[in-house]
Amino acid sequence: MADYDLIVIGGGSGGLACAQRAAEYGARVLLAEAGRLGGTCVNVGCVPKKLMWNAAELAHGLEDAPGYGFAVEGAVPDWAALKRARDAYVLRLNGIYERNLASRKVELARGYARFTGPGAVEIDGRAATAAHIVIATGGRPLVPEIPGARLGITSDGFFELERRPGRVAVVGSGYIAVELAGIFAALGSRVTLAIRGEAVLRHFERMLGEVALEMMRGEGIEVVTGASAESVRDSGGGALEIGLHDGRRIGPVDAVLWAIGRGPDLEGLRLERAGRAGGRGVELNPYGFVATDPYQATSVAGVYAIGDVSGRLQLTPVAIAAGRRLSDRLFGGQPERHLDYRNVPTVIFGHPPIGTVGLSEAAARDLYGDEVKVYTSAFVPLYHALTAGKPRVHLKLVTAGPEQRVVGVHVIGKGADELLQGFAVAVRMGATKRDFDDTVAIHPTVAEELVTMR
Ligand SMILES: Cc1cc2nc3c(=O)[nH]c(=O)nc-3n(C[C@H](O)[C@H](O)[C@H](O)COP(=O)(O)OP(=O)(O)OC[C@H]3O[C@@H](n4cnc5c(N)ncnc54)[C@H](O)[C@@H]3O)c2cc1C
Repeated sequence: MADYDLIVIGGGSGGLACAQRAAEYGARVLLAEAGRLGGTCVNVGCVPKKLMWNAAELAHGLEDAPGYGFAVEGAVPDWAALKRARDAYVLRLNGIYERNLASRKVELARGYARFTGPGAVEIDGRAATAAHIVIATGGRPLVPEIPGARLGITSDGFFELERRPGRVAVVGSGYIAVELAGIFAALGSRVTLAIRGEAVLRHFERMLGEVALEMMRGEGIEVVTGASAESVRDSGGGALEIGLHDGRRIGPVDAVLWAIGRGPDLEGLRLERAGRAGGRGVELNPYGFVATDPYQATSVAGVYAIGDVSGRLQLTPVAIAAGRRLSDRLFGGQPERHLDYRNVPTVIFGHPPIGTVGLSEAAARDLYGDEVKVYTSAFVPLYHALTAGKPRVHLKLVTAGPEQRVVGVHVIGKGADELLQGFAVAVRMGATKRDFDDTVAIHPTVAEELVTMR
């Protein structure tokens, strides 16, 4: 008999959720974690990022305050003090996660896990076997393979910064680039955002990226488009300079931050040993992530992958939901339980925040052709009636079919982060434009605009 019913490799969002749910069903579970419990989200992702976003929002609030009669001078936070408070909070979370595992009787093995054979792993020299093994090792930030790239930092390094860099270049156009550039700018750094094409947030509804870029420029972020970095060099006195493919240069800056994507963390896992000799091994998809079927199963029986390592939507609640559903299926007597990856809502914590769920207008037109009707609105929210800056809220509702089912909700503006969750429920339930119209508005709010669009 195997030593455990389940071994989970990785104690991040997905791994913890999967292990704990399995243990609640009475499974004997071992969880291996090489680093700090909580993984990316807790230590170098969502949690410390959101705390920094809160600080940045406060900074924006201070800019707005004079309009409401407050006599405040533009204040910049003490970065080191903010980091200390943030680190202490994260440390508390690490402890809470460890106690949660203990209370659910999940055994924790601290160390690096690798496969030694089918159903067998070794964690820093300790051997263990299980009927089911879940790979939940997450991802790592990518660094380009160009001379001097290591002089820059990634999002991991962002959270290690002891001081605010006076000048910073952020390279990338995805949500992490947008978020970190916005935080730096609000907290007083001079920011250059270098993007390869002409747009940011290309995987989202187009309107969101266009408005976000315009607002970032409005905040004083210098946006360099068509920029492909070819080198980074120390230009003296600790300053860095990025050389672009066309001879242009960005810098001197005090820090270069790569936010060009994340790859799977499979290093040292010895995936090739997970399958039977002569059989199929754990297959990867064309981008190098672990290929899984809708039930999170890999090409090797008894081996599964969840979360960022499976290359689906790289979000904490997605990893958690996939992990819990997998345990419901394996140990909870729910053989069909699996995660539906459609209509997952998400927020980009820019300034203002961006909330999006469902299909972009372009994706809806590809699917439904002429049966798509779109509603848009842009307005200055009441909050900004009295402030010097007047950023507008932009909204887009995408509907499909004769019944005008709402298939996409996209908002950039104050409150977008908190308003979206409820609308995501409506989209998931198949609400129509008529349902939205029949819902009485809450006044005066930003959200009311979504139920009053014509
Ligand atoms: C800057 C940033 C901001 C983000 N903001 C958000 C946000 O606002 N909202 C959101 O939903 N998502 C956000 N994310 C994404 C989110 O953090 C990830 O989607 C989530 O953490 C994925 O969970 P996971 O369980 O797949 O992997 P992870 O959380 O990365 O956990 C994997 C764990 O496995 C461990 N590990 C790896 N290999 C081994 C091994 N061989 N043996 C033992 N342990 C191993 C690692 O140490 C790690 O702890 C953000 C990410 C970043 C980088």
